[in-house]
Amino acid sequence: MEVIPSVCDDSNSTESQVKADKHIGRRKLSMDVENDIEYLYEAVPQLSTVFHILDKIGEGTFSSVYLGEALMANGTKEKFALKHLIPTSHPVRIAAELQCLTVAGGKENVMGVTYCFRKDDHCVIVMPYMEHQTFVDIIGLLSFEEVRQYIYHLLKALRHVHQFGIIHRDIKPTNFLYNRQEKMFALVDFGLAQGTTDTQIELLKEFSGLCKAPRAIFGERNLNSFTSVPTKTTDPKLELVKPTKTEDPATRKFISAHRRPVPVRTPVSNQRPNQRMTPAAVNLGFTCNCYSTDRVCNICMSRKQQVAPRAGTPGFRAPEVLTKCPNQGTAIDIWSAGVILLSLLSGRYPFFKASDDLIALTQIMTIRGSRETIQAAMTFGKSVVCSRELPRQDLRTLCETLRGRRPSPDDEATPHPHRDTTTRHHRTHDSPISTHHPGEPSRQHHPEEDQTLAEPEAQDERGWDSVPDEAYDLLDRLLDLNPAKRITAAQALQHPLFTDL
Ligand code: ADP
Ligand code: MG
Repeated sequence: MEVIPSVCDDSNSTESQVKADKHIGRRKLSMDVENDIEYLYEAVPQLSTVFHILDKIGEGTFSSVYLGEALMANGTKEKFALKHLIPTSHPVRIAAELQCLTVAGGKENVMGVTYCFRKDDHCVIVMPYMEHQTFVDIIGLLSFEEVRQYIYHLLKALRHVHQFGIIHRDIKPTNFLYNRQEKMFALVDFGLAQGTTDTQIELLKEFSGLCKAPRAIFGERNLNSFTSVPTKTTDPKLELVKPTKTEDPATRKFISAHRRPVPVRTPVSNQRPNQRMTPAAVNLGFTCNCYSTDRVCNICMSRKQQVAPRAGTPGFRAPEVLTKCPNQGTAIDIWSAGVILLSLLSGRYPFFKASDDLIALTQIMTIRGSRETIQAAMTFGKSVVCSRELPRQDLRTLCETLRGRRPSPDDEATPHPHRDTTTRHHRTHDSPISTHHPGEPSRQHHPEEDQTLAEPEAQDERGWDSVPDEAYDLLDRLLDLNPAKRITAAQALQHPLFTDL
């Protein structure tokens, strides 16, 4: 990066210029943002010799991202994104994120990296700045063609990183930057990435060794699962348990007739059904009094937590992640891409809004079917129990209904397919699907933006009246419950939906 240091020390800066600099567009920086910028300058003083930090543009659990401007050698000013990682990040984790960006980034819709600053435990990754729109702001405005392009470019980025044996693990719209005007796309945030068994990213190999210990997720429910190789325990409570004849949890009958129905029971085992069980495994695995109920008994409470990667965002997690399958591959990113396409086709974001893995799994079952989910889970050695059968939904019907293009079955009062969206989208409380309309920010309601969607002519113009079957076929393949059969990014790019691209 060729830059002229001392942008910040610019002696021509008058007080009014400084004040003006604190306005980004028409937005005045809040005191909090100003303080954060000040803190960053103090934590990594080298930054001030190169960058003028203009604003904070992102804040996540593991980092804060700032917009910085640098004076380049040719006299022009260039914008950069400065990602300040939280100081508690593991050094190998940081190095692995950087390595993903340096090895795979800068091409094929994957964000590149320009430089990296470090001072003590503070690290700042400098990337080219890409102006982009927020997903919620544009989802209601996109034409079908734009949706097709978006998903094509996302799949291109995924094919590229998967070729390097990188599993991104956190595919979601905030990590796939989209500039609608310029038709630019960039996959960012390798902060949770892991390597496949044959990854080309050296540090991802090293990193997988770091995540052996189970990570406690605060506020999330006990998944009531145990390690694949149970050890003999001396816990007297466990010694009292008698083994039953049933070794395969999937064949066990639902026994909670006297209890109220439960939406879903936890995944119980990662033992392949045909695997021989040790007596200890039988004791630990299948003879407790809470199986298929909505309670967690002491035996299950004392089980070892199962170790399986489950980083990411609940609503985008694949079934094999939600059920803690230990063997996870690039297919988990494809599932997340499928959830994004589901959002885009239905016009709902976020589509799945789950506070924990069980709720997320239930929501998946309401769309993809409980029987299908149970069958798929068995293929990767997991037993899922659902107290009530949830039928698989037809994806076109689902998306068109949510988009307001066909009547909703639970709203007979207004049978016209082009009813007003403000009434149409309000569903019952236990609906898994978010009630956010396209163009509606997460918390605030903007009736004028609802109008954009409610206007049938406008929708037709955007191609929503003639969505081809191929779009729903691709969606179906991306959201294949079985990771072994799920389409890959390379295959998806060959899908008939993209023939002309
Ligand atoms: P985190 O790990 O905290 O989620 P990300 O790398 O996802 O960090 O960045 C957070 C946000 O910062 C992104 O959603 C995006 O809005 C913004 N951002 C990140 N990188 C860039 C970039 N190169 N250009 C523009 N904005 C970016
Ligand atoms: Mg992110």
